[in-house]
Amino acid sequence: MTQPTASSPQTPDIEVDVLVVGAGGCGLVAAIAADAAGASVAVLEKQSRLAGNTSLSSGSIPGAGTRLQAAAGVDDGPDLFRDDLMRVSGPHDADHLTERLAGISAELVEWLIDEAHVGLTLVAGYRHVGHSVTRLHAPPSRTGAELMADLEAEADRRGIPVAPGQPVVELTVADGRVTGALARDADGRESRIGAKAVILATNGFGGARDLVAELCPGAEAATYAGSTGSTGEALRWGRALGARTGNLGAYQGHAGLAARSGVLVTWTVVERGGYIVGADGKRIGDETLGYSAFAGVELAAGGPLYMIYDERIEADVAKGQPEFAEVARMGDAVAGATAADLADAIGVPGDALAATLDAAAASAEGKADAHGRMAWGLGALQPPYRATRITPALFHTQGGLAVDDDARVIGAGGAPIPGLYAGGGAATGISGREGGDGYVSGNGLLSALGLGLIAGRSAAAEAAAPVGEETETVQQGEMT
Ligand SMILES: Cc1cc2nc3c(=O)[nH]c(=O)nc-3n(C[C@H](O)[C@H](O)[C@H](O)COP(=O)(O)OP(=O)(O)OC[C@H]3O[C@@H](n4cnc5c(N)ncnc54)[C@H](O)[C@@H]3O)c2cc1C
Repeated sequence: MTQPTASSPQTPDIEVDVLVVGAGGCGLVAAIAADAAGASVAVLEKQSRLAGNTSLSSGSIPGAGTRLQAAAGVDDGPDLFRDDLMRVSGPHDADHLTERLAGISAELVEWLIDEAHVGLTLVAGYRHVGHSVTRLHAPPSRTGAELMADLEAEADRRGIPVAPGQPVVELTVADGRVTGALARDADGRESRIGAKAVILATNGFGGARDLVAELCPGAEAATYAGSTGSTGEALRWGRALGARTGNLGAYQGHAGLAARSGVLVTWTVVERGGYIVGADGKRIGDETLGYSAFAGVELAAGGPLYMIYDERIEADVAKGQPEFAEVARMGDAVAGATAADLADAIGVPGDALAATLDAAAASAEGKADAHGRMAWGLGALQPPYRATRITPALFHTQGGLAVDDDARVIGAGGAPIPGLYAGGGAATGISGREGGDGYVSGNGLLSALGLGLIAGRSAAAEAAAPVGEETETVQQGEMT
């Protein structure tokens, strides 16, 4: 792979006001927002189709204080949301972004519906990890693929050029200002694009094992289940330009990847009363920590792990999330009429598994749980049982380039690097400094789409500013 670098400028093949690098959720929202603000925009995408993390996601976007919540009688607002986020993440390197993104979240959801024509509904029925109220909004199919299809359609409607198969390999820089980028296609053909502002929307570095080992070692042993496009170019370019970074050791994990097929076992199974045992048939912790935090518990425990649930939970979850049926279809839901049958089927000690089922049933019925778990969904498991062998996964890294409230990338001296913006996985996340336990459901898309909206508007404003004025503004933006 060509090492991304920052280079000197040459005459560009084309010029635009705003160049967006990466056509995921962040990039498309940034492009639409910049276009809506009157800028000329182009988007370059590395892969031959738009298949980043956004399309893999379940498309769930938090919005605190939306009209959809109001219609459903949910009382919410930015302060409550910020408090929820900070309670889970603790203080980190981008507290100002937590405030900023909680503040813009309702506007983001309504902007997506009204201006970007994305179909979103409030996800009712259960409360997501870390949220004190019902706050996530998702496409009707609850898939990121549908979210991406809507964003692509909007970009198309606006005539925004989106070019797949065009990996950016260098940023161009003149006198400390980012002035565009160089793309090189699979046949080695190069295109040089000049821009008044460049938005890095290339996601994080989960697919770059060298960077994960160096910067996020807590996730090194996890199976990477995110997009292959997330190989950390924004971070490498930013570092070459002396950009500040933050929260690099934080990640979103998922504790429920089916080990055999790689199908995701939704954490709703745990919320309904399922739990996780190791090879000895014993539970390893409080599963209600959430799917990301519990991935860290699983990484520490090691060895084969099994999600234990029952036929009722299987049917109930499949009803609300049809894709969960895939787990059974792929042969990943092992059945057992009794505890002994199930233990035999998965190869764990029968006595130990029976004792675990008895103890968990007692906890679900009100006895104090050895691991401190309080919530048991549908109550004690009932035969016939199910078990799925699982493994912890890394979905995406949560650290990246430090950005200010306008999504401008911060340089070594604390002032923004002129002409350079970042959002989504390319920027510092809001999920704590280290590990997977600072992640609240929806943090990924909030950073991607929220910073995309902010970056698109800010970059368009910078592009429209008279020459000279924008440099002055940029220099004033010291981060404290
Ligand atoms: C299975 C799964 C489920 C998830 N579910 C949720 C959820 O429900 N809610 C939530 O908030 N988060 C979720 N997340 C996290 C969320 O998907 C990400 O945080 C978010 O999509 C990141 O958006 P992005 O635009 O930054 O990155 P992406 O959507 O990955 O887009 C980045 C794009 O940049 C391209 N690119 C990279 N390098 C270059 C280059 N050099 N030149 C040109 N293009 C480049 C990539 O190919 C890619 O298309 C989930 C993640 C996974 C893996």
